[in-house]
Amino acid sequence: MKQSGVTVWFTGLSGAGKTTITQAIEKKLREHDYPVEILDGDIVRENLTKGLGFSKEDRDENIRRIGFVANLLTRHGVIVLVSAISPYREIREEVKARIGDFVEVFVNAPLAVCEDRDVKGLYKKARSGEIKAFTGISDPYEPPLNPEVECRTDLETLEESVAKVWQGLEERGYLRKPVSV
Ligand code: ADP
Repeated sequence: MKQSGVTVWFTGLSGAGKTTITQAIEKKLREHDYPVEILDGDIVRENLTKGLGFSKEDRDENIRRIGFVANLLTRHGVIVLVSAISPYREIREEVKARIGDFVEVFVNAPLAVCEDRDVKGLYKKARSGEIKAFTGISDPYEPPLNPEVECRTDLETLEESVAKVWQGLEERGYLRKPVSV
């Protein structure tokens, strides 16, 4: 049996905890020898989708390209961790339908909590108008209606959030060890 790949798609506001959870999950998966790759929105925007902006069209194109790569990796048995705000529901659904082996994780914390954390200082800049079209402040965020996993990072510890994602993968059969024949 081959390792069955899957795309684990983390969506949520800036500062909700996507990067923190994906890095913790990556570490745990590597410790268990699973093939894993991370596609992080911030990093992807510096290469694969460099030049794209933050209009709806560009945000959708960003997600489409991330989805394209995630699909290729998934077909090759990799557990792909995508960490991207991905604010629009329709494009997330489109990517989900194309990939099939797809677990959507809603990384959920109230805007006020994310803003209070202000991990990268971006909310301050969004409030002052220095950054335009900032998700949650001056641009929409459409929460998933039926995510496979929801992490309430304002109420849970990182360990609890990681355990939920792990369980979500396990329940769906994505953590079966490959058996060599
Ligand atoms: P994002 O990638 O969504 O922009 P980050 O992971 O960069 O968010 O930042 C999330 C912040 O929230 C970090 O400072 C992290 O320590 C904190 N945090 C608190 N509780 C949790 C949790 N349960 N899961 C993830 N992050 C958490």
